[in-house]
Amino acid sequence: MKYESTRGSGARRGFSDVLLEGLAPDGGLYVPVEIPLLNESTLRSFADQAFAQVATEVMLPFVVPDYEPDEFADLVQHSYQQFDHPDVTPLRVLDQGTGEWLLELFWGPTLAFKDVALQLLGNLFEHELEKRSHSVTVIGATSGDTGSAAIEAVRGREGIELFMLHPRGRVSEIQRLQMTTVDVPNIHNLAIEGTFDDCQDLVKAMFADTEFRQRHDLSAVNSINWARVMAQTVYYVTAAVALGAPGSSVAFSVPTGNFGNIYAGHVAREMGVPISQLILATNVNDILTRAFETGGLQITEVVRSTSPAMDIQVSSNFERLLFELLGRDGAILAALMERFRMIGHIELPGPVLEAFQELFDADRLDDEGTAEVIGRVYDQAGVVLDPHTAVGVGVGRALRRDPDVPLVMLACAHAAKFPDTVEAALGEGPIEPDRIRSLRGLPERVVELPNELGTVQAFIDENRSQASTVTLDRPKE
Ligand SMILES: *Cc1c(COP(=O)(O)O)cnc(C)c1O
Repeated sequence: MKYESTRGSGARRGFSDVLLEGLAPDGGLYVPVEIPLLNESTLRSFADQAFAQVATEVMLPFVVPDYEPDEFADLVQHSYQQFDHPDVTPLRVLDQGTGEWLLELFWGPTLAFKDVALQLLGNLFEHELEKRSHSVTVIGATSGDTGSAAIEAVRGREGIELFMLHPRGRVSEIQRLQMTTVDVPNIHNLAIEGTFDDCQDLVKAMFADTEFRQRHDLSAVNSINWARVMAQTVYYVTAAVALGAPGSSVAFSVPTGNFGNIYAGHVAREMGVPISQLILATNVNDILTRAFETGGLQITEVVRSTSPAMDIQVSSNFERLLFELLGRDGAILAALMERFRMIGHIELPGPVLEAFQELFDADRLDDEGTAEVIGRVYDQAGVVLDPHTAVGVGVGRALRRDPDVPLVMLACAHAAKFPDTVEAALGEGPIEPDRIRSLRGLPERVVELPNELGTVQAFIDENRSQASTVTLDRPKE
């Protein structure tokens, strides 16, 4: 398998280079040159296989020839051991009568779906760096859940130094504790005075600074990393198969911020999973919904909502879809994205908009609507939803087209990560799992920095230097 940049320049790369690089040197995102297909008999064979087995088979075509099948299977096998459910991403019935399901993606160490991909990424990174006797500096921006999931994925690993940027005061208390209480030397938490988009811009700017990038062997674990998209396709496959694929199809509703999770659903559909509807659900930070309705991709102010992991105005992964819908013309896309970066607004070409509308359905739900859904679902089914999941449930129910096709709504986080919103909606808070309770009272490690590229880079320069004493890039004795 080879990968190319969505901005069209540069050589094609293999999977392990794409894994370590994250963002392509021209500022684009890596995409595979072709999508491997899962045929019907393969899908059928998944019905009685464990999650890790299916995961190995779904992902293997994306990683050859860089990985041997046994080598890859071994890494995948080890990646889901920290999950508290034997099915890793279990399906739970929400309403048998109407065929509504929750796909629970929050059984990993940080109680949100990002663990599914990042636990694997941690293993892949360490394995690859060991192979190359090399070390990297991983930088990332988080609106809350990526940060802790990335930290859990690389804590204490050889050859990896992690700098995680989060918007100060704009992540929930529990999200913050999950990041800042990790007391290991290779993890650095940076609280930036700004929004998530500011953090993401800083990360992008550091990647664009070639000298800085090379000096630190920068690498990314944000959802711009192809390996995360790849890992997230797996649960679309397992859920569809559990509900009758390839014999029948399913609809998915996905709460969206960076367009990562739902893009993985799109890839699963391209691979041949019978998905009849993909519903894109945003909160009031609705750049994608507005683009869907009007064709205008236009940045507005980020508004704080009760689903903070989706308080995003620049949905990075959308570029991957645009690349495809533009007939894989990297030059046109590069010009569009440059314009978008300069003036914060582009119009999608007519055929691109039509294709976008054909492939997805989209709507938004505000905080009030989100609270209503949390209340209604609790009354109807006794299930406590987290606010992100509730956005997907509300929009999914509203946009569902075919009542005979099961509707799977992605449960992206455990409700206990957002206790204040849940308590406001239900009058009582969710039960706190041990994984959260044990964080309270632990000392926190975090550095507050202004939203200034130079200051952030200087901090990394200083604090990365200690890592050079443990790099693996010296010749082995
Ligand atoms: C990250 C996150 C999202 C948004 O996912 P994207 O891949 O960025 O679209 C939604 N809900 C939760 C709980 C998240 O952590």
